[in-house]
Amino acid sequence: MMLDTPHLDVPFYQPAGDEIEVFEHAWKNRLPLLIKGPTGCGKTRFVAHMAARLGLPLYTVACHDDLTAADLVGRHLIGDGQTVWCDGPLTRAVREGGICYLDEVVEARKDTTVVLHPLADDRRILPIDRTGELLAAPPSFMLVVSYNPGYQNLLKGMKPSTRQRFVSLRFDFPATEREEAILVGESGCAPDLAKRLVSIAHALRTLKDQDLEEAASTRLLVYAALLVRDGMDPVTACRAAIVESLTDDPEVADALMEVVSATF
Ligand code: ADP
Repeated sequence: MMLDTPHLDVPFYQPAGDEIEVFEHAWKNRLPLLIKGPTGCGKTRFVAHMAARLGLPLYTVACHDDLTAADLVGRHLIGDGQTVWCDGPLTRAVREGGICYLDEVVEARKDTTVVLHPLADDRRILPIDRTGELLAAPPSFMLVVSYNPGYQNLLKGMKPSTRQRFVSLRFDFPATEREEAILVGESGCAPDLAKRLVSIAHALRTLKDQDLEEAASTRLLVYAALLVRDGMDPVTACRAAIVESLTDDPEVADALMEVVSATF
């Protein structure tokens, strides 16, 4: 495993600060990591980048309100009259000494904390009740979780007993030049288009909380850049990739489109 020689297929990631260093030190010291930040700001990409950089297998789980501990750990499946045990993604990551990334972890059912807590503290064990196995995580195993501390999670916030098991990183939308570099890197668009899209995003982000549930993410800007690069008119591309993804309210959409029209 090499820390300093990235693999050729390491996904592009534009760092914001010392997050790569924090991740590497957490991993070396067998500490789990919590990444908090708005949707589409690069959390998943960062974890994919780090897994490739460290040469570790990555199991990503998009958590939702029906996700149970069994979905993570595994279950018995019945086929051909036989019952076969099938590892879930968390168990696979533990067995292989890889990274298990639980995206939007606060969405998952409460029973998942029962399997996450003993893995996230210094015990680093995964008890599999249904098979009676007790797996000890190898040194290279790492648990990474993320959540969006936006308003919809205020009630669902993470319990202190859970969050205090993690080293934490705060992510936010990238600074102007960095976001422009991301758009160019991701879409191959011209720097001038990247500049304009980022300026639109800044104007739209000031509207968050007033009219919009979520701010315009870097992901949406990448979509717009891809459409324009493919020959689409920028105003049409911004409506489809940014504005209509942000709101269902026609009046709010019109207001957002004014920002777009003023830019192109
Ligand atoms: P999150 O997990 O925070 O919701 P993602 O990691 O999926 O967001 O990021 C969404 C998209 O935005 C990525 O697919 C990528 O195109 C782009 N992106 C965001 N931040 C970065 C970054 N720092 N470096 C490279 N691409 C980024």
